[in-house]
Amino acid sequence: MTVLSLVVPCYNEQEALYPFMQELSRVLAGLSDVQPEVILVNDGSADKTLQVMRELSAQYECVRYISFSRNFGKESAMLAGFAAAKGDYVAVMDADLQDPPALLPEMLRVVREEGYDCAGTRRTTRKGEPPIRSFFARMFYRFINMISRTQLVDGARDYKLLSRKAVDALLSMPEYNRFSKGLYEWIGFRTKWLEFENVERVAGETKWSFWKLFKYSLEGIVAFTTVPLALASLMGMLCIVVSLLVIVLLCVRHVIWNNPVHGWDSLVCIIVFLSGLQLFCAGIIGQYLSKMYLEIKRRPHYIIAEQSE
Ligand code: UDP
Ligand code: MG
Repeated sequence: MTVLSLVVPCYNEQEALYPFMQELSRVLAGLSDVQPEVILVNDGSADKTLQVMRELSAQYECVRYISFSRNFGKESAMLAGFAAAKGDYVAVMDADLQDPPALLPEMLRVVREEGYDCAGTRRTTRKGEPPIRSFFARMFYRFINMISRTQLVDGARDYKLLSRKAVDALLSMPEYNRFSKGLYEWIGFRTKWLEFENVERVAGETKWSFWKLFKYSLEGIVAFTTVPLALASLMGMLCIVVSLLVIVLLCVRHVIWNNPVHGWDSLVCIIVFLSGLQLFCAGIIGQYLSKMYLEIKRRPHYIIAEQSE
C-alpha cells in the first residue's frame, strides 16, 4: 500500500491543531488506497501545542510528533519532518488550514499518475494580506528572478507534495541556511502548479512580521545568487572610470583657463557618497561571509527534545 506522509510544522498552534486534524482526517478518509502518516513538528512553541500533539497522537493512530528544544524556524521543522517521513510521497502543509487539505487528493493524483515529481500550490490572490506586504513580496520575486538563475514562482506556498526521489534530493542538501522556496526549484524535477484562492487562518495569528519577512528575503538572495558580489565590484569600477574622467577634465580646465579648483562642499558630498558606497559593498561581502561562518560551524539544524515512538 502507498504510504503518504504529511509534515506539519507547528509554532504556537494550540487552537488550530484540532480543527486541522479534523479536516485532514476527513480528507484522508476519502483516500482509501493510501496509508497516511502525519508528522507534527513542534517548533519550540510557547503555548500548549506539545500537549495537544500528545493528545492527538493518542487519539489518531497515524499521528506522530517531534518536538524541538526551542524555536528553530519553519525551515528546520520541515527538514525534521522530511527526515522522519517514511512515505512514498511526502506533503508539507501549514497547521492553520491556510493550505486546504482538500487539495491533497488532486496533488497525489498529479504525482502518481501524471509523472510529476512535485505538486506545488500557488495562491492566485493575496486577499487578507496588508497591501504594503503584497507589494514588497512582488518586488522581491521580481528582483530575485532578475538576478538569480533559480527562478521562484510568485505566490507559491510551501504547501507541496513530493515524490520520494524529490524528498531524497532535498535531504541530500546539507546546507545550514535553508531557503526552501529556492531549494525546491534548485533540485529540478517537474512541478505542476495547482492554484487556489488565499484562505485566512482558522485560529491564532501569523508568525511573520514584516521585519522577519525582510530578513528571510535577504537570506534567499544570499543563498541563491552571488550577483550582489559582482555588483559591488562593478560599482567600484564605475567609480574609478568616472573619477578618471573628472581628473582629466579638471587638468584640461586648469591648463586652458587656469581655473583653480574650488568648492569644498562638493568635495564633502563626493567623499560621503564614496564612503557610503564602500560601506555598502563591504556590507554585501559581510552578508556572504556571515552565511559562510554559519555554514562552517556545522551545527545541527535542530535539536529534538521529545518525540513519539
Ligand atoms: N511555523 C513554524 N516555525 C516558525 C514559524 C512558523 O513551524 O518559527 C509554522 C506555523 O506554525 C505554520 C507555518 O509555519 O504552520 C506557517 O506559518 P504562518 O501561518 O505564521 O505563516 P503565513 O501563513 O502567514 O505565511
Ligand atoms: Mg499561515
